[in-house]
Amino acid sequence: MKFNTKVIHGGQEHDAAYGAVMPPIYQTSTYAQTTPGGHKGYEYSRTHNPTRNALENAFASIENGTYGLAFGSGLAAIDAVIKLLKPGDEVVSTNDLYGGSFRLFTKIFQDFGIKFHFIGMEEASNIEAYINTNTKLIWVETPTNPMMNIIDVKTVSAIAKKHSILLAVDNTFATPYLQQPLDLGADIVMHSATKYLGGHSDVVMGALVVKNKELADRLYFIQNASGAVCGPQDSFLVLRGIKTLHIRMQRHCENGKAVANFLANHPKIEKVYWPGFENHPNHDIAKSQMKDFGGMISFTTKGNNMKESIKIVESLKIFTLAESLGGVESLSGHPASMTHASIPKKEREKTGVVDSLIRLSVGIEDIEDLIADLEQALE
Ligand SMILES: *Cc1c(COP(=O)(O)O)cnc(C)c1O
Repeated sequence: MKFNTKVIHGGQEHDAAYGAVMPPIYQTSTYAQTTPGGHKGYEYSRTHNPTRNALENAFASIENGTYGLAFGSGLAAIDAVIKLLKPGDEVVSTNDLYGGSFRLFTKIFQDFGIKFHFIGMEEASNIEAYINTNTKLIWVETPTNPMMNIIDVKTVSAIAKKHSILLAVDNTFATPYLQQPLDLGADIVMHSATKYLGGHSDVVMGALVVKNKELADRLYFIQNASGAVCGPQDSFLVLRGIKTLHIRMQRHCENGKAVANFLANHPKIEKVYWPGFENHPNHDIAKSQMKDFGGMISFTTKGNNMKESIKIVESLKIFTLAESLGGVESLSGHPASMTHASIPKKEREKTGVVDSLIRLSVGIEDIEDLIADLEQALE
């Protein structure tokens, strides 16, 4: 099956009871047994739920994996991955990453004795200096949030394999429409399904996909033992969202390209961060590992003035000022005061998250309206 067919049919079976084409929402916590242990494969909905299972199969299919797991949020999915580790273990992570991931690593798991190194991975060779016998996991986000750096997953995977370290890739920004990290050698793909997979800004959810059975079993154990699962209603919504992922992404990419070009030619703009530009430092890698360049764009204004940037995002009318990304509607955000407020100023500026930085999640509205909106706000 090719990708556009997989998003609609991958891992799906028609309902055995009545032939429903969409999986029913099995809004139940438990399942009747005829005799102790005599059940139809389902005992309790933290462990298994048919609607969630349908979604987990879809996750596995679209990421070219074998096993999918759904969680109550993206962070719950990351939390499950880090629980594969033990005190004394070390993680090498990209330094420009989702603020909540940074917070989870440094404010929760560091206290459990896990050590994190946050480094620039645009040059993959930087990683080896941070690897020792305790290193058990490499955590990669690409494109990174919000600086749109591109990490070469294939090269990082070769380093991880050489040292027998797990490689996990947060594929939230790219989605499997643009890049499939398992095919590039990653062991674990993670998603905030809240974003493009759900696609309609109506659900908070997380996903993991792996190929290896033993790794899957360990993660299923953690999923059930820690219990951060999502409900059947949300599973249904994300499953429905995935069915249009390919056509939504196609339009996100088209609109993203038009907005990036508009900004790059605007006199008030200092710099536009978007991997589709030929002068983007890792454009060639983006081109080789991604099908297109997506609808996530960051930019700074001349003078690097925090107040001015806040005024711009307040003046936008179609771009809604809001956290999150990846929905059909366009959103704007000011990382320094919103998503990255939990990262100390000195730390965030090191990675480029300066005061004037604005991040856009370009939606799938008419491009003329989006550009007119940006034009009036910059005015
Ligand atoms: C939103 C996001 C997360 C966290 O996901 P939640 O669903 O909000 O818990 C992790 N990584 C990236 C890149 C994100 O954008």
